[in-house]
Amino acid sequence: MPDGSSPATGEPRKLHPGAGRRRANVFPKGRQTDGASLEEINRLLAQSRLDRDYLIENLHLIQDAYGSLSARHLAALAELMKLALAEVYEVATFYAHFDVVLEGETPPQEVTVRVCDSLTCACLGAEALKEDLKASVDANKVRVISAPCVGRCHQGPTAWVGKTFVDQATAERVKTKIDSGTYSVPDVPDYRSLDAYRADGGYNLLEACLKGERTPDEIITILKDSRLRGLGGAGFPTGMKWDFVRREASPRFMAVNGDEGEPGTFKDRHYLERDPHRFLEGMLIGAWVADAQCTYIYMRDEYPAVLKILADELAALDAAGLTNGREIQIRRGAGAYICGEESAMLESIEGRRGIPRHKPPYPTQVGLFGRPTLINNVETLYWVRDIVEKSADWFTNQGANGRQGLRTYSVSGRVKEPGVKLAPAGTSVRELIDEYCGGMVEGHTFKAYLPGGASGGILPATLADVPLDFDTLQEHGCFIGSAAVMVLSDQDNMKDVVKNLMHFFWDESCGQCTPCRSGTEKALKIMSQDLWDLELLDELAAVMMDSSICGLGQAAPNPLVSAIKHFRDELE
Ligand code: SF4
Repeated sequence: MPDGSSPATGEPRKLHPGAGRRRANVFPKGRQTDGASLEEINRLLAQSRLDRDYLIENLHLIQDAYGSLSARHLAALAELMKLALAEVYEVATFYAHFDVVLEGETPPQEVTVRVCDSLTCACLGAEALKEDLKASVDANKVRVISAPCVGRCHQGPTAWVGKTFVDQATAERVKTKIDSGTYSVPDVPDYRSLDAYRADGGYNLLEACLKGERTPDEIITILKDSRLRGLGGAGFPTGMKWDFVRREASPRFMAVNGDEGEPGTFKDRHYLERDPHRFLEGMLIGAWVADAQCTYIYMRDEYPAVLKILADELAALDAAGLTNGREIQIRRGAGAYICGEESAMLESIEGRRGIPRHKPPYPTQVGLFGRPTLINNVETLYWVRDIVEKSADWFTNQGANGRQGLRTYSVSGRVKEPGVKLAPAGTSVRELIDEYCGGMVEGHTFKAYLPGGASGGILPATLADVPLDFDTLQEHGCFIGSAAVMVLSDQDNMKDVVKNLMHFFWDESCGQCTPCRSGTEKALKIMSQDLWDLELLDELAAVMMDSSICGLGQAAPNPLVSAIKHFRDELE
């Protein structure tokens, strides 16, 4: 925040109001604040801001400092931020990572262990791990709960302890981590520093842009020619989107979607923990093309090491003069899958619940704070430098099975060497398993795969040669999304798989519309019976797909519908 003014309104930084000061004729609603709580929160937020869009950031600061959000602190925050208490509560209780403790309730234990129970970790023994942990830790000190995908599927089962992770976790290894007391600071891996990146020609392109040696139109043309598409899942042509935003009136904003929450996806984390400046250079070029007044990086809370890397490297970029005075803010998610949906992400950046907006208007026209906003996924921006420097042809000349470009597949499940696999777009799952992942795990026979995470549907092994890319899977009722390929074997029970995925969507539904909110719940009830009513489930799926507001509810039945189509005998 170089000049301290609000990126939303341009107003100067607001000073904290005097604690407890009110106009005499205003009758305050809700819980009354006490002087001590106001003083505590006022002091804690001295370096933060009190604008409406900082609500989630401020909730994080309170939870980080006090371990939970008490009723008295929420009341003090509402007063300081001049918000209705109900509004603060509704935001705080929407996000899974905030622990709201009402009066009379007991605060959570000192340590929270979250065991990922999304599909791959579930297949690899998450439930047993959770039970082992509950039986072996001191319940007065340690809380063991479930968590949706934390983006480490190739190393599952994974337990998240404080700000650290235990991969291929056992109860013993998690206990060792707790006993070591080294869980409050993220484990930051070695990554390519700013100096190393610059030594390799990094930021030459950005500097050429800033000096006027390259033009925004030229960059947009190269991106259009490369046919780069949004790699967060939606696949919208990147050059076209940059062009759309640039044609809108100023002021404009940029938002980076780093909420990589689709179960099975971990490619963005992979790149950010290794080569963050390749992404940052792409982002700064995008901000320059869009002439963004402020750029927001919305990063999921499940990636504490990435949050630390980005904070450090943005400071280094500022010191090196490479941000060119452009304002960049990191916004921390708080555990809501729906915030990966772009309009829900915008709501969250504005400090609200992540409730998707109705479209149109699209964010390119009416986005953050009502202004045109360029939204890109992390990996999309990661490829900008290479494509512009090496040419659009360099990108399009790659590809397999009739497709063009490169894809980063996050492969997990029953393969010998799961992980991030950079391969030609259009690579089939058979090629991924055999040529990139060392084959199936001993004793497992390939049975099925999810080509696009939890929402992309399920395909049988008989369709192992379909090219995996945008537009190749629709005829099979599936989509590639963020290219999270989850491989299942003969040892995976299809009923358990479908139930796990529906439970995920039920848990993550924002609740705004009935088909999704009630549809996921009703589907789970039917699935809790010994005999599933497949006709009713099919009918329910059609309603959800046709009438849900956003992609979550529309895609939630995909695994179910695919399983009914390809594995009906296992569901009956
Ligand atoms: Fe919310 Fe689901 Fe409706 Fe999307 S489809 S708006 S997640 S309730």
